[in-house]
Amino acid sequence: MATLHFYNTLTRQREQFVPINPEKVTLYTCGPTVYDYAHIGNLRAYTFADTLKRALAFMGYKVFHVMNTTDVGQLDSDADLGEDKIMIGVRRAAERGEKVTVWDIAHLYTEKFIEDRDSMNILPPDKLAPATEHVPQMIELIKKLEAKGFAYRTSKAVYFDVTKFPTYTKLSGQKLENLLEGVREEVVVDSEKRNPMDFRLWQLDQPNHAMLWDSPWGKGFPGWHVECSAMAMTYLGNHIDIHTGGVDHIPVHHTNEIAQSEAATGEKFVNYWLHNEFIRVDNVKMSKSKNNFYSMKDIVEKGFSPLDLRYLYLEAHYRFPQNFTWEALEGARSARKNLVEQMSMFLTLHEGKVPEDVSKNEYREKFATYLADDLNIPGALSVVWEVVKSSELSVGTKVALLAAFDTVLGLKLSEAPTLYSSFSAEEIEEILKIVNDRESAKKEKDWTLADELRNRLTEKKVRVIDTKEGTVVVPA
Ligand code: AMP
Ligand code: ZN
Repeated sequence: MATLHFYNTLTRQREQFVPINPEKVTLYTCGPTVYDYAHIGNLRAYTFADTLKRALAFMGYKVFHVMNTTDVGQLDSDADLGEDKIMIGVRRAAERGEKVTVWDIAHLYTEKFIEDRDSMNILPPDKLAPATEHVPQMIELIKKLEAKGFAYRTSKAVYFDVTKFPTYTKLSGQKLENLLEGVREEVVVDSEKRNPMDFRLWQLDQPNHAMLWDSPWGKGFPGWHVECSAMAMTYLGNHIDIHTGGVDHIPVHHTNEIAQSEAATGEKFVNYWLHNEFIRVDNVKMSKSKNNFYSMKDIVEKGFSPLDLRYLYLEAHYRFPQNFTWEALEGARSARKNLVEQMSMFLTLHEGKVPEDVSKNEYREKFATYLADDLNIPGALSVVWEVVKSSELSVGTKVALLAAFDTVLGLKLSEAPTLYSSFSAEEIEEILKIVNDRESAKKEKDWTLADELRNRLTEKKVRVIDTKEGTVVVPA
């Protein structure tokens, strides 16, 4: 089998993947801040992590995957400024006339996130960890940093001193001097802060904040970055294989995760950092003001299936920006529909037969080679179509290959509808009688009757496909 390679943001190189323990590859993904619906950009980040996890399994690894939900009311800016995000959710609900608490908002949007995730057939992580349930672990981590001299306290917060961690900018490749100089005056909200880039581990001066916890430094709440470090280390250990997230997290969030984790443990935190590029809408950045901030609700309201969006995301490599347009989504829908119909046909022809072993098949090898090449899903998708269109492969081989490929693609191909899964025995009998009558009409060259019978089949929501193996009837 092809050897797996990833582009590692940390080393800026394509590297062979060597797991710490092949029996349990450890994977961490930054999850949603649960104060609003996920937008389609977020959904790309989660679809990417999902295909990565599925590809690892396809290549024979066992994976343990952790994702957090940020349900602590974090401030809506990386620079420790702004409004509590969960309170934004409460305020918006109040504007709609709903009276809710911060906890209601966090629960509601965690549920909405899970619904969106499931609708796109994104597999649940082995552990979905809400930040609010892990505050003691965060406090322990901050205590360690304080004891080792990496953290200091002001009247407003406990900070991480970035100048104490010499490799602070290793993930982004930026120069710390430039960062320190580049910070604008108005961003400095705490005059006691030693360096403008120092980031908040524990916030103290926000008595009106809705969620507060006791701590050795006083009542407050944890910083955003410390959430991910604490939860990743709680479930995956100090040293983990792969961490994913969008490219926006490289210079701040993930840079800070590395600094805190490695300063506290003295060990390397993550071997492979994988980042997905952004979704743009009509070639511009998504923003509320441009009204192009789509969520799954918008996709479904326009009559698309969440799996159409999944197919669209499979068409682009994760490290390239992808442009979302409604036309592109229509293209993805018709390609997916076509693929499902082909699978329906193959499943029908193969009905009742023993599954084939394709573990050594050359197409499987080709598919794996694409996956191994830094998760080249668009390449892998091209192999799917080669298999579908092949005139040499038997139907049994096609069914087995497509089912195996779908463990990575997640398009639910093995659930493609057949007559037997979609209709009752009586309905099937009736449909097959019309099909037989149509065959006879065609033999007798009674084209009018043949057409009429075809229309009756269309009315019954089935389609007749003539193949070299014979006529196949599939749900339309
Ligand atoms: P957030 O809730 O802002 O932390 O975002 C959740 C995930 O979505 C993170 O991994 C972000 O990097 C990612 N993300 C945010 N916006 C986009 C976008 N437009 N396209 C792709 N990924 C995004
Ligand atoms: Zn994170």
